[in-house]
Amino acid sequence: MKAWFQRFMSGRYGFDQLNGFLCILSLILVVLGAWLSGFLYWLGLALLLWCYYRIFSRNIQKRYAENMKYLSLQNQAKDWLARQKLRFDQRKVYRYFKCPHCRQSIRVPRGRGRISITCPKCGTSFIKKS
Ligand SMILES: [Zn+2]
Repeated sequence: MKAWFQRFMSGRYGFDQLNGFLCILSLILVVLGAWLSGFLYWLGLALLLWCYYRIFSRNIQKRYAENMKYLSLQNQAKDWLARQKLRFDQRKVYRYFKCPHCRQSIRVPRGRGRISITCPKCGTSFIKKS
């Protein structure tokens, strides 16, 4: 049985981080969908099918590229969460403004009254209460 499975899986992609994510997400959707709506249920099943398709796929390069894309998105999400946490932890010490010209986020110390802020990215100056 084990040898048969090994032969069956040779040349196929197998399991990776994206499949782990799909597996968990589909489980959550199926459980939620059974309670809430048929759409979520079927979406969950579709994700599970996609997960199996990826495991047994022979197009290893393409699956690998998908996983790399997923990992990069996951990193961006982690970075964003870390930034939000830092911002929340420092909320008593710093205020954050967006540059009106280029949308760059700028951190200034709190409690300095009305100050002129110069964007380090594009050089635009604007006045805000810190
Ligand atoms: Zn700017």
